[in-house]
Amino acid sequence: MRNERIGFYPGTFDPITNGHTDIILRATKIVDRLVVGVARNIGKGPLFSTEERLDIVREEIANIPDPTTRDRVEVKAYDTLTMHFAMEQGASVIVRGLRAVSDFEYEFQMAGMNNRLNPNIETVFLMANDKYQFIASRFVKEIAQLGGDVTPFVSARVAQHIARRIGRDNGKRAAKR
Ligand code: ADP
Repeated sequence: MRNERIGFYPGTFDPITNGHTDIILRATKIVDRLVVGVARNIGKGPLFSTEERLDIVREEIANIPDPTTRDRVEVKAYDTLTMHFAMEQGASVIVRGLRAVSDFEYEFQMAGMNNRLNPNIETVFLMANDKYQFIASRFVKEIAQLGGDVTPFVSARVAQHIARRIGRDNGKRAAKR
């Protein structure tokens, strides 16, 4: 389609939570096509490798019930500057999710700097449904590592990936002892 509006939603997705999926669904209402960007360069010690995070996000997208939404979402890994990758994808908006006030400062600075890099690409902020607003991948991982139930925060599929990964890591640790 000519003149289609493309959005770019970058993140680490380690792993994708119900909060992320909610933002993806909301973003598809304001853009024609959405590219979800899985960042390769994330500090040390992600729970899942880039390829795993990519596969898990793709699996979540494949499970969006409405095909007219699902078919407009693509998932790609990237390791360049977010703005450069957004431009390469032909995006006119960068989508970010806002949770509490705590996200604001960081997001405010990032949006300002990105606007300097390319004033033609706007950053838009979406809020997840209030059921999901408090969810952060970091806490999901901590809860799982301490044996808690993460099914309120991630899909059953993602919960299984986490359980398998943490079970394996604990097994390795036990074997070392
Ligand atoms: P996290 O901060 O959970 O590690 P990411 O870096 O993958 O997640 O986040 C990508 C984007 O999604 C960011 O803009 C982040 O604020 C947003 N986001 C993550 N979780 C939620 C949520 N529960 N509700 C709204 N936005 C979210």
